[in-house]
Amino acid sequence: MARPFAPRWLIALTAAGALLSVAPAQPARVAPTRPFAPFLWPVRRLYHIDYIDVRDLATHYGLTIEQAKAGKIARLRDAAGVRLVFEDRNRDFHLDGTRVFLGAPVVTDRGSLWVSKLDVIKLVAPLFRPADHAHQLPGDPRLIVLDAGHGGNDPGKENKLIGIQEKTATLDVALRLKKLLEAQGRQVLLTRAEDIRLAPDQATDLQRRADFANQNHADLFISIHFNAVERDALHVTGTETYTMTPQFMFSTADERKDVMTDVAFPGNKQDYANIFLGYHVHRAMLAGLQGFDRGYKRARFGVLRFLACPGVLIESAYLSNDAEARRIATPEFREKIARSIATGVSAYAAALDTLRLKSETPPPPAKP
Ligand SMILES: [Zn+2]
Repeated sequence: MARPFAPRWLIALTAAGALLSVAPAQPARVAPTRPFAPFLWPVRRLYHIDYIDVRDLATHYGLTIEQAKAGKIARLRDAAGVRLVFEDRNRDFHLDGTRVFLGAPVVTDRGSLWVSKLDVIKLVAPLFRPADHAHQLPGDPRLIVLDAGHGGNDPGKENKLIGIQEKTATLDVALRLKKLLEAQGRQVLLTRAEDIRLAPDQATDLQRRADFANQNHADLFISIHFNAVERDALHVTGTETYTMTPQFMFSTADERKDVMTDVAFPGNKQDYANIFLGYHVHRAMLAGLQGFDRGYKRARFGVLRFLACPGVLIESAYLSNDAEARRIATPEFREKIARSIATGVSAYAAALDTLRLKSETPPPPAKP
């Protein structure tokens, strides 16, 4: 279940929106230069953020729209039956049954639901109609860097009762995943193949993991982690998948931590590939593990910030939940995690292939 945002959230959002100088909507007379049209759609300024009416989204893509609960829920459906579901005050939406977090909450105005313009441009539209962005998507991922989270004197999260540390489980999954991806005909490199850390301090350690992928000209980066929460939420279980937050968007975990300089961080130039990757990997993880859907999210994690290639960070399950930690402690479950990630990678690669074949739009001239 998605939680409605707290009033504190709204205050932070309003203040942040007021500070962010997102360019105003272009007048409708401006001729479109590319088929992707949300830049030109009518916008409405709500809580100091530009919002787009879901009715315009429906009209643009030729979707049928059904408003339920007095306009508090909107279900949009295309001819193939693919559904987008938005709910008032929620910071997530569902695409074809998968939970995807937004940068800003959905709001109600004038009897309709509104989605922030940045979310429409950077997330909703590209995920729903990736073919419009085919020229911005990379080729088949041939060289993949796997990053087993933590290591050495940084154990990561830990479940003392079950006697399992994150660093051990991440390395085991990485080694299993390496074999599966190699069986797919891909080349795989590991940021670490033993119980070590890459630098004494965390910032450098994370930077070196990204540097390793960049120096090897990786096509894809996968960071493997396990989750944990504080004592008061030990019931929490499930899978979360993260990619780098696109520029000017709020991260999912805690928007108040995103100071303005962070929101302006330029991302890693792979926004479209990242969300495509995150969505496909997250879906595969849910299908494979059958765990609770904690959502596909964005964060400016140290290990993702400086990557040159598309990258994903997977929090497969919760070590803080004893039942889930018991599963993580079994080789069968870790193999299942590795298989789910491998399935996600092949789904991402297959989708890229399909888009490349379908793409009839020539690439736009490169920006200087
Ligand atoms: Zn971790």
